[in-house]
Amino acid sequence: MLYDVTRILTPHTAVFPGDTPVSIAPTLQMRAGDSCNVTAITMSAHAGTHVDAPRHYSDDGVGIDDVPLDVLIGPARVVTLDVAGAITTADLQNAFRDLPYAIRAAPRLLIRTRASDTPDDVWDDSFAYFDPQAAEWLGANGLRLIGTDAPSVDPATSRALPAHRAFLRHDVVIVENLRLQGVPDGEYELLALPLKIAGGDAGPARVVLRR
Ligand SMILES: [Zn+2]
Repeated sequence: MLYDVTRILTPHTAVFPGDTPVSIAPTLQMRAGDSCNVTAITMSAHAGTHVDAPRHYSDDGVGIDDVPLDVLIGPARVVTLDVAGAITTADLQNAFRDLPYAIRAAPRLLIRTRASDTPDDVWDDSFAYFDPQAAEWLGANGLRLIGTDAPSVDPATSRALPAHRAFLRHDVVIVENLRLQGVPDGEYELLALPLKIAGGDAGPARVVLRR
């Protein structure tokens, strides 16, 4: 069973306020007499479902082309948290008490919140984000990848990006803007492959869960 947990890219895809909107425009069209159809795409690297590279929050961080593939493919766990505001360490511990064991078994964690119900073309900045202590705690327990259905692991208004930085300190890769609607909690194989953009601060990705 495959679950496509990727948001769709259209000219209406919601992006961070002020960020470049998605443009998908034909440069060749068969119905206009051209020999084939060709499309030009303009978009922020953070539009839709994407993987953040450390370069996003540190000039010294690696680009998306250097994020190791073995982190982006492998055992993952989906957990639903009905949290508004900050996701705390206690929220995570309540969600599953055997968390340190679970992280060793599946060092990729995808958090499903109400944001999965937000349509792809609607911007809603009331999404749940990570308390930096929770990010620290996950990293200290050996997590390698965190996925969220929200547009960011920090609040929309954050400039300091403390959760991004806490995950970075532990080399935890961040996947944002997943769409986990209809995906039952449990264990999966994650396949999250961002575009190989030289030095990119992020890469749009098709993300799939296999049961
Ligand atoms: Zn991002």
